[in-house]
Amino acid sequence: MYTKYMSDRHNALFESIDLGPVTVPNRVFQPPHGNAYGLGDQQTAFRAEKARGGFGLIVQEYSQIHESTDVTPVDSGYIHDDETIPPQRAMVDAVHDHGGKLFVELWHGGATAGNYGSRRPPLSASQLPTGNYYTPKEMEHADIREIVAAFGDGADRARRAGYDGIELHAAHGYLISQFLSPFYNDRDDEYGGSLENRMRFFREVIESVRENVSDDMAVGARYTIDERVEGGLTADGDGLEIVRRIGDDLDFWDIDIGVKQSIDDMIAPSRRHSKNYQIDFVKAATDELDVPVGGTGRITDPDDAVALLEEGYVDMVGMARQSISDPHWPRKVREERIDEIRECIGCNVCVSQSRQGIPLTCTQNPTVGREAVWPPEEYETVDEPKGILVVGGGPAGMEFARVAGERGHLVHLNEKAETLGGRVNFEGTLPDLGEWNRVRDWRTTELERLDDVAVHTGSRAEMCYDDVESYGAEVVVVATGARWSEKGETSGTHRPVPGWNRDHVLTPEDALEVDPSGRNVVIFDEEGYNVSAGVAQSLAADNDVTFVTPSASAFDQAVHTFERGTIFTTLFESGVEFVPHHALEEIRDDDVVTANVHSGAQTTLEADYVVFTTMRKSNDDLYRDLTANLDSLRQSTEIEEVHAIGDCVSPRRIADAVYSGHELGRQV
Ligand code: ADP
Ligand code: SF4
Repeated sequence: MYTKYMSDRHNALFESIDLGPVTVPNRVFQPPHGNAYGLGDQQTAFRAEKARGGFGLIVQEYSQIHESTDVTPVDSGYIHDDETIPPQRAMVDAVHDHGGKLFVELWHGGATAGNYGSRRPPLSASQLPTGNYYTPKEMEHADIREIVAAFGDGADRARRAGYDGIELHAAHGYLISQFLSPFYNDRDDEYGGSLENRMRFFREVIESVRENVSDDMAVGARYTIDERVEGGLTADGDGLEIVRRIGDDLDFWDIDIGVKQSIDDMIAPSRRHSKNYQIDFVKAATDELDVPVGGTGRITDPDDAVALLEEGYVDMVGMARQSISDPHWPRKVREERIDEIRECIGCNVCVSQSRQGIPLTCTQNPTVGREAVWPPEEYETVDEPKGILVVGGGPAGMEFARVAGERGHLVHLNEKAETLGGRVNFEGTLPDLGEWNRVRDWRTTELERLDDVAVHTGSRAEMCYDDVESYGAEVVVVATGARWSEKGETSGTHRPVPGWNRDHVLTPEDALEVDPSGRNVVIFDEEGYNVSAGVAQSLAADNDVTFVTPSASAFDQAVHTFERGTIFTTLFESGVEFVPHHALEEIRDDDVVTANVHSGAQTTLEADYVVFTTMRKSNDDLYRDLTANLDSLRQSTEIEEVHAIGDCVSPRRIADAVYSGHELGRQV
């Protein structure tokens, strides 16, 4: 429990709150979110870190209560049998050790759970299509009784595991919400039709759970008040009426919006919605309820968080992505170390991985998933500082310099551009990606704090082989990044597009520099992500843009970040034409020849300019020259080690470059 504050400014966040019988030490909570870590030491370390960082309440992720809600291959939470209790008990103890409370989210996915492991038929309120290549079974009354009982059994295990409370998953178009919603429920028995009938399953689940928890456990729900689909629940209709009718049968509510069909609104990326975007929906519930209400929706700023509390939007401020990006947000706020907060950029790399069964990582926070090995915010200082030269101040070089500096090394970070940031300086200027600049800005501020790190920028900081040789450093870290290929190679060809060297063939950076107007522009893409989307959006304002890709669609990388729908909407509205299934065969003076990658059929497209966003290549000449001569460098200079990090090794996501810099920073 916190008793002393460094400042009054954000005190409201650090008042305790009672959720039924449970007193939570403050108003900052982590709403449930998956990470595909399963149960065990990593899950425990991940949740405990947030408690260590000051989150008063952590809600463990969606946890399977029954074999008919099996999301193989994703490793979600599990509470369907007694073997799951010991690892959860360990997690509860670890969170308690740091003064936090831990709830578990009891979950049945209904139609969304394909049951690929258990081979049970998917269940739902009604037999309606899921978009998952199967149709669920409409639950019989025996099925309903079995699942209601399974929720109770889950609550019983949660009690035995020592959880402080239960959050029922009554949101996001999963089973409880499939019963509540007229969009999913077209039954004509006592579980369908009228609102009271649609609420019957939820009421039975609450009762079953209440019967199995102890008096000192809280029972609440995560609930979608507005489904953002035609025919679904709305915050000015039945969505709110359900809140009114269930009311204080629950000890607290965690209000959300969106279902599977509107997932872009549920976990909105920064390119889709600005900060705090759900909060008016949450207020609709807060105004009706006497029990505490939590709300989320890309809340990252401490002043906003306080205002949301003080103005009565929420009783508790929920942060999922911000708690991933900086699990120490509450502690930094309490200590008024506001500019040390590593703000989430809303890129959704985290959720894009976990929902595919890939263990969660984060663009901003490289220690995620490594908490036990790399304690966040803690650095092992070195007894004998080394003189280190870092060449290149993109995400990898900055992160390396920051970590090495924290450890006490003497670091010179040399960046040939006028500002640090590398690729972020370009990508952060693309439409709707402004928040991505936080990758650069947070690290710039942190580097300024470190006395033993010197940053040099501009043309005099450009390092060639001779400069490095004579610099006097013991360790050289090459972080020179990557560049977009000028030749248009794809995974299907591995060869330059004939005509690639014509003057009107441009890289993405050149294209925005040239800034043509009133021309035909062909973008040839295999990135399928934010650069091609951003360049298309920028150029479409004044040009006729045709987007050619060998893929069956476009922006495949943006599917799981929930950005693709927004990208398509924007580009279609801007008049961009799409030519999927096609590759460029040749670039000529005024047009390009394309070929269908399946049939080979050729067409031509008018093209004043061609932009390639097919692949990036590492800027690794300096690194290769240095390593080729390492033996003689060791003899004739102070240089002992040469390393390469980030895109200079392999062009990947920003998250991977940051991770790579962090990893070497911890090791050197
Ligand atoms: P990463 O994502 O791996 O950090 P980036 O491409 O974002 O890669 O950043 C690499 C940075 O390295 C760029 O800002 C670039 O200007 C800088 N750079 C490349 N070559 C040199 C060099 N020889 N001297 C100094 N800076 C360099
Ligand atoms: Fe935020 Fe991106 Fe990290 Fe997710 S991956 S927490 S959206 S910075």
